[in-house]
Amino acid sequence: MNLPNLNEARRRSNKSVNRIDYKLNNLYKQIGLNKTYYVKTYGCQMNEHDSEFIEGLLESIGFTKNNEMEKADLVILNTCSIRENAHNKAFGMLGRLKHLKEEKPNLIIGVCGCMAQEEVVVNEILSKYRHVNFVFGTHNLFDLPKLIYDNMDNSKLKIDVLSVEGDVVEGLPVKRVNSFKAYVNIIYGCDKFCTYCIVPYTRGKQRSRKIEDILKEVNELKDNGCSEVTLLGQNVNAYGKDLGLGYDLADLLEKVAETNIPRVRFITSHPWDFTDRMIEVISKYPNIMKYVHLPIQSGSNRILKLMGRRYTKEDYKTLFDKLKKIPGISITTDIIVGFPGETEEDFLDTLEMVNYCQYDGAFTFIYSPRVGTPAAKLYESDQTSLEEKEQRLYRLNELINNYSLESNKRMLNNTYPVLVEGLSNKENMLFGYTETNKLVNFAGKSDLIGKIVKVKIQEAKSFSLDGELVE
Ligand code: SAM
Ligand code: SF4
Repeated sequence: MNLPNLNEARRRSNKSVNRIDYKLNNLYKQIGLNKTYYVKTYGCQMNEHDSEFIEGLLESIGFTKNNEMEKADLVILNTCSIRENAHNKAFGMLGRLKHLKEEKPNLIIGVCGCMAQEEVVVNEILSKYRHVNFVFGTHNLFDLPKLIYDNMDNSKLKIDVLSVEGDVVEGLPVKRVNSFKAYVNIIYGCDKFCTYCIVPYTRGKQRSRKIEDILKEVNELKDNGCSEVTLLGQNVNAYGKDLGLGYDLADLLEKVAETNIPRVRFITSHPWDFTDRMIEVISKYPNIMKYVHLPIQSGSNRILKLMGRRYTKEDYKTLFDKLKKIPGISITTDIIVGFPGETEEDFLDTLEMVNYCQYDGAFTFIYSPRVGTPAAKLYESDQTSLEEKEQRLYRLNELINNYSLESNKRMLNNTYPVLVEGLSNKENMLFGYTETNKLVNFAGKSDLIGKIVKVKIQEAKSFSLDGELVE
């Protein structure tokens, strides 16, 4: 058994990163023949993309996808640990799977993702959820065929979680959700250690992929008809820093734009690592989407310091103003309310920043203590009630939603290119995203899915737009 260890996960060394070319062992090639799988994913884009690798790995060993969990021979839960409610959802699902396993004793259940990297979670699985067959972490996802092979007799729970700084693995098989829009990892892990955040412990140290590997992937996607790539990382703006090869996100964005793929996105940006050159490159290339997700977390300098965010509200404003000079740019953010010790005055500073930035949208959260992080210790003496925090969240959302609506209203009667993503819930309706990442619903036929079409905006709501197909 390899059990997770937060102390080891916290460590950072100067050791160079192993770069591994994945190769499937012949022993495992057919172990999934005539069997089906179901993968349930929780959390961020990183997890969604990891699940694309999990599905690719499973299909490379003969499994086929089953859209009904109850009928599958293998169920994998790819979990998220960013906040308590993500934990609760995954444990709720594990409870459901216990009943399913009683009905189907041959069912194989695997748990992976960020929760698997946490000691408290694995201890709970060991004591209460022994119907799980195996647990593996974010660092050994590519061992999945071996884990399944070792568990073919369905006998006992195996934990194989590595608390290491992490490698970079190239050449994993991937089954993408769709062919016209793709995630491309550019940097793994995080070294920022914001005091509330579990990610640096669950995802390892900051490690970039080589520019040539990223460009090869983007070119292959483009040659296969893909219209949009999203360059992914917990902090994409730190891209290249660990490589010491003299290139950074600005160089990468430039090279990716020059492949002429129609749309280039990147997410997420930490304000600390944003350079003027990156802003110049974003402005220069029409196929780099004018959309930046720039988490602020709090508008109070006192709280930002306690969070370990490394910028002040003044620094943030300076960067924000520079980005706002890019014509048509849309900027969204993340905000945490109720960080331990946040006072009404601190919260008012956050509202003031929202008023200043007038974001196009925001993800807002109540602070959730994560075991092992420095802020969790501050939380033990936190005086603010949950009721008060919920009130703050409500007030914040009211303000954010007003500005989202205002920004959407400014788009009324104008026409925008939209990449059509799929059928919307309403009959004969499609949905897609503008270059600025606004969700648009409009009437159209399903043969438009995957195409970039022009849509005239007719109605603006806080979270979406309704429009009419122009051509
Ligand atoms: N790397 C990104 C950054 O630096 O902004 C964010 C990654 S995290 C997956 C997404 C968001 O979750 C964060 O921006 C933060 O607002 C929120 N978050 C992280 N830890 C949290 C916690 N303990 N409680 C509440 N929200 C949290
Ligand atoms: Fe978490 Fe901060 Fe790293 Fe973002 S930058 S993943 S919030 S530690």
